[in-house]
Amino acid sequence: MKRILCVCGLLLSVAAVSGGQMESTSPVAPLPVDPAVKLALAGISAEHVKADIEKLVSFGTRNTLSSMDTELPPEQGVSAAADWITSEFKEISAECGGCLEVKRDEFMQPTQTGGYGRVPRPTKLVNVYAILHGTGGDKAPWVLVTGHYDSRATDVMNDKLTSPGANDDASGVAVSLESARALSGLSKAGVKLTGTMVFVAVAGEEQGLLGSLHLAQLAKSEGWPLGAVLNDDIVGGDTTPGETGQDKDAVRVFSESVPATATPAQQQMMLGLGAENDSPSRELARQIAELAPSYFKPVAVQPPAKNGVRSQMMRLLPGFHPVMVLRRDRYLRGGDHSSFNAEGFAAVRFTEWRENFDHQHQTLRTENGVEYGDLLKFVDFNYVVRVARLNALTLASLAAAPSEPQNVHILTKALDNNSELTWDVSAFAPAGTTYEVVWRDTDEAQWTHSQSAGAETHLKLDVSKDNVLFGVRAVSAAGDRSLPVPPLPARR
Ligand SMILES: [Zn+2]
Repeated sequence: MKRILCVCGLLLSVAAVSGGQMESTSPVAPLPVDPAVKLALAGISAEHVKADIEKLVSFGTRNTLSSMDTELPPEQGVSAAADWITSEFKEISAECGGCLEVKRDEFMQPTQTGGYGRVPRPTKLVNVYAILHGTGGDKAPWVLVTGHYDSRATDVMNDKLTSPGANDDASGVAVSLESARALSGLSKAGVKLTGTMVFVAVAGEEQGLLGSLHLAQLAKSEGWPLGAVLNDDIVGGDTTPGETGQDKDAVRVFSESVPATATPAQQQMMLGLGAENDSPSRELARQIAELAPSYFKPVAVQPPAKNGVRSQMMRLLPGFHPVMVLRRDRYLRGGDHSSFNAEGFAAVRFTEWRENFDHQHQTLRTENGVEYGDLLKFVDFNYVVRVARLNALTLASLAAAPSEPQNVHILTKALDNNSELTWDVSAFAPAGTTYEVVWRDTDEAQWTHSQSAGAETHLKLDVSKDNVLFGVRAVSAAGDRSLPVPPLPARR
């Protein structure tokens, strides 16, 4: 958060700016494709995804409250599911020579009282996670992917009912597991990723984001340098006979605008700068949308002018692609990314294009010919594969990048039509790190222009700062980019 909100940079001594005005700029180049990453992504298979989701469904219920049920048959209930996820991470680790550190974050959730309480008695929760440590040491960035393994029926307090939760959210857990499998394979193949990756399955989402809240607080208290959190929740690509609105080529990426942790003063500053569309979470969503085409090769077409609604046009684009939705989450709904936002981390949510609400949070039944329930048969395993590949490539690229540049400023003392930016080197900047200024018109969704500053830490551009939005990011020798940092104004 500090990159947008800290005003301490205003007090720093004036850095010498010797960069000349740049003569030419270029469009933002596509992310270079890493053949090893491409190979790893290709290894994410529908067979594995299907096996993961089938196994999770087999536990009957994964309602969080079932952890305290002592009369469950063997291999039933949320605790058995947690044990299976743990063993699965350990198996993946064994395949890469023990490259994963598999851990469990176990705690007792006290009874919740009040109207919204969904924990009627002290209840054990277990978050399961696996860490793939990078080679870059303490300052290299961390990235995290998560899904929730608990499930529910219509009555969230009833842990006796069958609750398959195939889409919500065994699909998201499959993304975590298969990302771990693919990227630990990279490690086994000798590819050195400098950043650290954390693969997570959390409990207690349906009970009120309880597992992710605990894990986000643990991450904060242990000082994990998390640069990006990817939450996959309902990424099964619901397939209902007769449904024509689903788009298997699109996945939504939700991100908050003003950070949850912004103080009123910080909010005022963001409003003054027009920075409300450049929160760390929004930069993460933007980066996902930017890097996806390198690996998914969308077909460029002129979308037909259907009815003027952008979402309709986006839906008609062929080729798998993320669609940025510029809000924290859907109406009436929340997700685990918000727990990480609440602790100040950049976090986004992936969700399928069109949800079928008959197949979520529903007790299994058929009424008036409508089949209710979150059943395995409605999940499209190939769709989950593509979402998993998008997650894995985001993790791999960010884990191969330097950390973000620090103390990024735009100089505002002179009333002129130039833009002069300064910054400090990244805390983690391996040999060959360069810096790049990116910008876009204020009504553009994506960065449209870039200019490399090489290894320098300042750049002057013949572009009016009043008309565009800027970011500065660090670029590795291989071309992987940190998230961009928007500049704060500095009167010097
Ligand atoms: Zn969910």
